[in-house]
Amino acid sequence: MIKVVIWNEFIHERESGAVGNVIRSHYPDGIHRYLADALKCDEFDITAVSLDMPEQGLPDELLDSTDVLLWWGHCAHEQVSDELVAKIRKRVLAGMGLIVLHSGHFSKIFRSMMGTACRLRWREAGEKERLWVVSPSHPIARGIPETFVIPHQEMYGEPFDIPDDGKIIFMSWFEGGNVFRSGVAFQRDRGRIFYFSPGHETYAVYHDENVQKILKNAVLWSAPEEFVPDRITPMPEPLEKINTPDPLAGIDTAQLHK
Ligand code: ZN
Repeated sequence: MIKVVIWNEFIHERESGAVGNVIRSHYPDGIHRYLADALKCDEFDITAVSLDMPEQGLPDELLDSTDVLLWWGHCAHEQVSDELVAKIRKRVLAGMGLIVLHSGHFSKIFRSMMGTACRLRWREAGEKERLWVVSPSHPIARGIPETFVIPHQEMYGEPFDIPDDGKIIFMSWFEGGNVFRSGVAFQRDRGRIFYFSPGHETYAVYHDENVQKILKNAVLWSAPEEFVPDRITPMPEPLEKINTPDPLAGIDTAQLHK
């Protein structure tokens, strides 16, 4: 079983007024609980959590048993504690999969893993998004048609300042003319990270079966085979005899490493 945790800031779903009503019509119990149902299968043990829960939804005992963490955030990125972000980062570097959804591009954890500002262009006009699979042999694209349409989406457009070591799996074209790298996979130390941009809260994007299939594939791809926590750089003894004379022989350099 892959232990999957779906984290959501869970704020927009509880907003009052017409916008809140629209979001609740798609996700009555929140995006996290909707996705927990949508991704349910024999291989996944899924827990849905949110920012308002104790320890911001991720107490140590839960995080330390998580194989893959999905992250949906938008307006509350700054409320997530730096201490929690540091713990998540450490767990990712040790092997935990991290799937960052939609406006999570600006989350502390994604920016921390990328090392860039992760800015992009955006427009909310209910326009059509057409996704293209550009890496058909990648496990995250398994079973996904070469191209498919999401009828209404917030436009996310280039330039998107993420590092260029990411493997581009999906590219999107928007009705208004913009293009975007909508699915990009990274490796950071032992951890696999997948950013997937579809998922604006006022449209029913996560109801789309291709989107759900992509997220399932991403969980399978990013689940670690093993965790290697607390990696330290060892100071190995030489395996072969070193014949080069040490020009500093006789001088104690140990103080430089204290
Ligand atoms: Zn959005």
